[in-house]
Amino acid sequence: MQYAIHQIFNGYFNIMFKSVRPMENIPCFVFLLVGEDGELILIDTGFSPEYIPGLITSSQQEAEHKLPQAIRNLGYDPAEVKTVIMTHLHWDHTAGMQDFAAARFYVQADEFRGLFQLNPNEETYFCPAHWLKLLPQIEVVEGDVELRPGLQLIRTGGHTKGHQIVEAATASGPVLLAGDAPFNYDLLWKMISPEGWQLFREGPGARFYWDQSIQPRLAAWMDERKISGPIEGEAIPWEHFKQNGRLAYTLHDPRLLKAKIS
Ligand SMILES: [Zn+2]
Repeated sequence: MQYAIHQIFNGYFNIMFKSVRPMENIPCFVFLLVGEDGELILIDTGFSPEYIPGLITSSQQEAEHKLPQAIRNLGYDPAEVKTVIMTHLHWDHTAGMQDFAAARFYVQADEFRGLFQLNPNEETYFCPAHWLKLLPQIEVVEGDVELRPGLQLIRTGGHTKGHQIVEAATASGPVLLAGDAPFNYDLLWKMISPEGWQLFREGPGARFYWDQSIQPRLAAWMDERKISGPIEGEAIPWEHFKQNGRLAYTLHDPRLLKAKIS
């Protein structure tokens, strides 16, 4: 089975903290795959201007960049999206999950296990409000799997504990949709001192930290799904995948602003 890959531009965001190099004009994309059988598969769901965790933030997201509308503009019915692959659960990938009420969401089990090993600052990378109500629709994945013919989920870890990428067969050969696999924000975020984080937590950042009910609720769901416990997979360096010479695109790939994938 081969897939056509549509890139959907979801907008730009900017994050600034005093004393740290700003993240400016980060383009954000979502991919819509269409199988030869007409099946629609979405990879990640983008960001919301309502939730960008930083001291000073801004974004550009026009109506046509918001997901359901962007899918309609490509000529597809968003209600027909039954499969959503989540490369990971960072806030700039999860904001649109609630727009796909009929979908099943494929997430690595290690991504949930990793949520119990976050350093305190790292909570702000994740927005449980985007997906907590959708837990019943989550399909937990353990390691590498062939989701459908021609569509592989490959666990990479690294960027997050359960980060995964997608390899799709296309008319021009296999294409890797790499999520955030090559990126590591840890250095950037570690440049803020613990005191600085504490001030952020008590002030403008308060709403980006998790309320106390979230971890117990998540733990109960994980027990029910029998996925509690330590992280199972190793982090595989991005270079390992790059070496195979396949076409690869991240979800923030600036090349996609100028050229179509296929
Ligand atoms: Zn990320």
